Amino acid sequence: MKITKRALIVASMAFMALMLYKWGHVDGREGKSSGIISDAIAAEKSPKASPVKAHARDFYAPNSEDLGPDEMRLIACGTGMPTARPKQAASCWLLELGNGDKFIFDVGTGSAERIAAMQIPYNYLDKVFLSHLHTDHFGDLDALFVGGALAGRQKPLRVWGPKGDTPERGTKYALDHLFKALTWDLDGRAGITDPRGYQPFEVTEFDYKGVNEIIYQENGVTIRSIPAIHSLDGPVSFIVEWNGLKFAFGGDTYPNKWYAKYAKGADLAIHECFIAVPDMITKFQFTPQSALAVGTQIHTAPEAFGKIMSIVKPRMAVAYHFFKDFDTTGPINDRIRTTYDGPLSLAEDYMVWNISKDDIRVRMAIYDEDAWPPPATEKPQLPDASLRIPYSDFIVGGKYDVKDVIQPTYDEINKKYGLKEKQD
Ligand SMILES: [Zn+2]
Ligand SMILES: [Zn+2]
Repeated sequence: MKITKRALIVASMAFMALMLYKWGHVDGREGKSSGIISDAIAAEKSPKASPVKAHARDFYAPNSEDLGPDEMRLIACGTGMPTARPKQAASCWLLELGNGDKFIFDVGTGSAERIAAMQIPYNYLDKVFLSHLHTDHFGDLDALFVGGALAGRQKPLRVWGPKGDTPERGTKYALDHLFKALTWDLDGRAGITDPRGYQPFEVTEFDYKGVNEIIYQENGVTIRSIPAIHSLDGPVSFIVEWNGLKFAFGGDTYPNKWYAKYAKGADLAIHECFIAVPDMITKFQFTPQSALAVGTQIHTAPEAFGKIMSIVKPRMAVAYHFFKDFDTTGPINDRIRTTYDGPLSLAEDYMVWNISKDDIRVRMAIYDEDAWPPPATEKPQLPDASLRIPYSDFIVGGKYDVKDVIQPTYDEINKKYGLKEKQD
């Protein structure tokens, strides 16, 4: 049979299209791909391309898609390490549920910027769960707290986190002191903006030794805590269940029996997976001794990640906590694949998973670099201006007189909004 060049091109394009769909849509059960692939084949038979109409795109644009009532959307807002880098903030995971609930798991250094890129009103982002108190897991809590309150969170920020083995190593101690550290910041805002978001953190501490104990149960969502093994006593991981879907979020840990047992069968299971030891030595400048200790004992080595996922058997396994570059991804993947052959995402910032009972879709988010705050869900409340803390006479005495050039702005705004505001 003679095969023409054109037939070969058409066949290879169809195959590429099929592989692209397969890459984006994976139903991990039995390792089979989802029904979307048959749609792709159908599309091949009758192309829908048009010179004037938009066609389907394979990225997630924040604030452009409804979330289905039975759907879960997870966004990686930080997948990196304690040492900052432009491409990867530290651990932060934004979970959105079809019932309207949203949860933030960890809020590591640099992640508040990624959360902002998702364009979600801050009133919806009032629940944070901390796996432990390393800065790469809670270092941007202050940015979310103050920046969120300034941009429309009109309620206190609720935070769940483990008790330590001593009160000083617990979440409440850390957050009480973080709030105190913000004294100058918060005092300076008194009497100027809506005060409701700046109230002290509402902290719920729970025993880090609790095994699969419920720490949150509201609106059909149950969140349980399991212990983790990392650095000191105290770290935990979380298991979320809602609407027949199960999501496991592993904070930092040496591989442990609790995650292996209680994350089992999760629709989506996140677990840390550290940089391969050779790369820690050559690229991160660790000594071989420290690289072995940190990369295999304090954290989970890629081969051990694979071993845990072979037991958990999630519909989708997610590995994070490594600098993901063109030359580190291969070694990590190869090492995981020595012990695990199931569905796998090697996470990077802005990766998005849409999870339903029938499908798991993995995409990257493309966001607006120039994002402004999303709309507030309620009208801002005017503050009590009498609470404003005045400057001293000394500082007031240093003011240069620019009233004449500012007054036109007062006139303009007073006229436009029917106000009678006066300069200080
Ligand atoms: Zn840690
Ligand atoms: Zn960490």
